[in-house]
Amino acid sequence: MQYQKRKRIYQSLVASVMVLCLAVLGFAVWLLFVPNAHNRPVVQTQTDIEEASGTATLPVETTANQFAAVLTGNTTQLAGAADETWTSSDETIAQVDENGVVTGLQPGRCTITGDKGDVYQVAVRHLEQRDGCTYVDDILIVNKTYSLPETYDPGLEPVAEGAFTQLQAAAAAEGLDLYIGSDYRDYAYQVKIYQNYCDLYGWEEADTFSARPGHSEHQSGLTIDCNTIDDAFGETPEAAWLAQHCAAYGFIIRFPLGKEHITGYQYEPWHIRYVGSAVAQEIQQYDLTLEEYLGVTSAYTEPWQG
Ligand SMILES: [Zn+2]
Repeated sequence: MQYQKRKRIYQSLVASVMVLCLAVLGFAVWLLFVPNAHNRPVVQTQTDIEEASGTATLPVETTANQFAAVLTGNTTQLAGAADETWTSSDETIAQVDENGVVTGLQPGRCTITGDKGDVYQVAVRHLEQRDGCTYVDDILIVNKTYSLPETYDPGLEPVAEGAFTQLQAAAAAEGLDLYIGSDYRDYAYQVKIYQNYCDLYGWEEADTFSARPGHSEHQSGLTIDCNTIDDAFGETPEAAWLAQHCAAYGFIIRFPLGKEHITGYQYEPWHIRYVGSAVAQEIQQYDLTLEEYLGVTSAYTEPWQG
């Protein structure tokens, strides 16, 4: 009896050690073979974004380290595409070819993964025109490609005004003074501003910093210029705070430094656009412009005929 008991204890001890060894071995194998994306950033989960913003519009939790957007029926080229082989997580939403060219098939989200660790969060967008305004996934887009009708006259939108009031209070709590330097402008006012710059600098120069009538985001009622419209604003603590915190209140720095070739405009640290906090935080997370986020261009097709 005593021997049988010892034998059972011994057997169960051996079994436990074996299970432990297998677990350690399994973990080692997992460590070896798990795809190790280079520069994988800390990415907010969907839940984080929802909690921060109080909205729930972003469907995919992802470890993507890059972002690409494309309109339905359009294509876009992924960066670094030449030396990677790409796979789409959902070929009914977006397909990708051997050159990293992505085709948007229907609105939605998927991930496109390269064999060298690049992971793209891909958004396929729906562009729609309503009453002369252009919406991409229901976000109003106003830039050099897309204009507003002359009659569009919303004033400063309450949602943007309310969000700015909160932003302003948060800045004030840290001893910083952010205020509205300029907000809504109507078509007629934009005619005067743009024509004045054309008279001073010529239209080609004016186009780099002033919008043609109908193309100014200030006409959308969703845009605010903070404080003084001056390059010196970019050097103030207010500007640094604004860049860091505006997304939490639903705003983006609309014309960032280094993205002039995408937005079509010089860097404007004072010009913020309301898009809602979920969208703003995703734009900030991936360091995008609104054009990149929506998968659209910003370019005039004609010289100014003013
Ligand atoms: Zn502005």
